[in-house]
Amino acid sequence: MEDKSPLGDTITFLGTAGARIMVASQILASGGLWLSLSGTEILVDPGPGCIVQATKRKLRANKLSAIILSHRHLDHSADVNIMVEAMTQGGLKQHGWLLAPADALETEPVIFSYLRGYLEGIEVLKEGKSYSIGNISFTTPIRHIHPVETYGMVFKTANHTFSYIADSRYFDGLCHSYGGELLIINVVMLEANRPFDHLSVPDAERIIVELKPKVAILTHFGMTMWRAKPWEIAQRLSQQTGVRVLAARDGMRFDLSQLDNT
Ligand SMILES: [Zn+2]
Repeated sequence: MEDKSPLGDTITFLGTAGARIMVASQILASGGLWLSLSGTEILVDPGPGCIVQATKRKLRANKLSAIILSHRHLDHSADVNIMVEAMTQGGLKQHGWLLAPADALETEPVIFSYLRGYLEGIEVLKEGKSYSIGNISFTTPIRHIHPVETYGMVFKTANHTFSYIADSRYFDGLCHSYGGELLIINVVMLEANRPFDHLSVPDAERIIVELKPKVAILTHFGMTMWRAKPWEIAQRLSQQTGVRVLAARDGMRFDLSQLDNT
């Protein structure tokens, strides 16, 4: 048995809202994911209200090593500027990295130019590339099908591997690109066959059956998902797939040590 890092891995859901109507209503929060992995803190997809959700939960932005954007849509990036300012203590301490697809940084950047110098650096996410931050590494295996340039991530920590499948229309290459003991899946819609480039419950089921993680966590719920009670959908998917499926809740902290006993 390999040595376990004593530092542990947790994921805090600073929000579980997905897509425009739900995010605008704030029935569910939209702050993104706060990862604490083998002693390295990373913020992924700081949507509207991230600063409020993070401070409310006493998560300290100046501890962050990096902020990662899967894509430039508002529900994933609206609070990136304030979170960069918080990460760098108002620019007093040049610190931390921003990683995002080229189209979030170039033509119409989501980050103000005056904040760029506060960072240690900015890294452009590209298909099939690997990145390392502190004690962890991650890859962006494939470009998603979404109206703007979008990537999911496969994270490797000292003890765990898990995937974050960000916004996308379902396509065959999606499943093959991800893996690990845990899948976090952005499931905006209840039903498939709508003209939106988002995953639905049947897509999530297909992905879970194909990849057979130890645990799958559904999040990023649109209105149709919320009305259908995500926790009931998760329960049904658990029965249908034989995989433990959870519906994320605002503020939920998932400790990846749960994966070690299954
Ligand atoms: Zn999107």
